Amino acid sequence: MKTLAHRNIPITIIGGGIHGSSIALRLLRDIPNAAQHIVIIDRHAFLLTQWRHKTERQGMTYLRSPAVHHISTNPLGIVEYAERHNRTNELAPPYFQPSTELFWDYCDDTLSEIRKHPIFYQFDVEKLRWDKGAGKYPFRLISKGNIGFRSSCVILAIGSDDCPYIPPEFAEWKRRYPDKIVHASQFSVDCEFGRKEGEKIVIVGGGLTAGTLAKSLSQLRHSVVLVARKQLKTEQFDFPPIWLGPKALSEFTNEPDFQRRFQIIQENRGEGSITPDIMESLRNATNVDFYPETFIRNIYKTDSDNLHVQTTRELIPNVSRIVLATGYRFNLRRYNFMRTLLKQYPIDLICGLPKLDNDLQFYPIENLFGTGTVAQLQIGPASGNIAGASLAYERFCDKLLAKLPK
Ligand SMILES: Cc1cc2nc3c(=O)[nH]c(=O)nc-3n(C[C@H](O)[C@H](O)[C@H](O)COP(=O)(O)OP(=O)(O)OC[C@H]3O[C@@H](n4cnc5c(N)ncnc54)[C@H](O)[C@@H]3O)c2cc1C
Repeated sequence: MKTLAHRNIPITIIGGGIHGSSIALRLLRDIPNAAQHIVIIDRHAFLLTQWRHKTERQGMTYLRSPAVHHISTNPLGIVEYAERHNRTNELAPPYFQPSTELFWDYCDDTLSEIRKHPIFYQFDVEKLRWDKGAGKYPFRLISKGNIGFRSSCVILAIGSDDCPYIPPEFAEWKRRYPDKIVHASQFSVDCEFGRKEGEKIVIVGGGLTAGTLAKSLSQLRHSVVLVARKQLKTEQFDFPPIWLGPKALSEFTNEPDFQRRFQIIQENRGEGSITPDIMESLRNATNVDFYPETFIRNIYKTDSDNLHVQTTRELIPNVSRIVLATGYRFNLRRYNFMRTLLKQYPIDLICGLPKLDNDLQFYPIENLFGTGTVAQLQIGPASGNIAGASLAYERFCDKLLAKLPK
């Protein structure tokens, strides 16, 4: 297999998740001989590894979004795939949400388009430099293994998983009891602990990750307490679907104040919600207790190995694990490979999110684009979701295609 060392690549996509793969598939469709012009790199050995891990860790069985949201360019792709393989029973009402397995199998099938070409490389980006005025390939990418190559354009499709959010009040408790208090991104229902039975587990959070973990752990016969700061909300989607339509999007991009845009995203994504089917199974489970509008005041140990959790409601004694399903807060500063660029160039950040221009470029850096959570201040509340990838591609494709040799 060829390596990337010392090569000059027209378009580099950093991140082989849902967004990076979707963008690569679109470029393969739109550029003649695309395979000569693009590479997609990821720190994992295979595309979509992170997606697969995160859904498996929680025991997620169905996607939240409808069947039309996936990685390929044919909106009916999953439905047609399900029909061809007699798997339409894996499209759940009311919006044909695919089962996680169906979604995965469809993606794997679609990714064969990428696998036909030698364009995917395992490469953990350690440094990204932009030498303005350094000719046709001003970006230099260096891996953790110290391999370097140059590129004309770079697309960041890095998700937000490197930014797990730990609420400040938990920092000290987590430091004191590191193996008892874990963020959801480090917890797997399939770990040795998860497979034991009859443990008492507190899950902190009111979103779908909290709900899915509670369901999976209750099915494994643990006793689960769901502690949320607000009333639990039941919604099919994690943002109002109007955010996929032109009206809301153009109003959003016409808002000149990026701080206000950030607020709009918070208002529309809120503190999370749980889908009706998961909520129903939680309500029917005899081993799930709900503590809504509840804050944790203290976490301590006495003589046993278990924790006692003092809440504003009551004491929850003998807890063997606390899982923080408290989400992610994207902050570009937390990505080490961006450090040099952030130091060298005045990239404006609003609460950690970059103020990209209309083409999703990192002003003042030319030809560095973003898709996914990193592009939220332009694409709005749907940006980090699956559907956000096609919205992002529409914004930067002309600019990208214009960079290719004629
Ligand atoms: C459990 C769960 C379920 C979800 N379900 C849905 C759903 O049903 N519908 C929906 O629309 N959305 C859903 N989402 C939200 C969103 O669609 C997913 O999080 C999706 O994975 C985001 O894709 P992404 O490509 O932006 O990020 P990721 O999947 O996180 O991919 C980013 C990639 O970048 C790579 N990377 C990062 N930094 C570097 C580096 N320095 N060098 C090399 N590679 C790097 C990572 O290895 C990773 O593979 C869900 C999210 C979660 C957590």
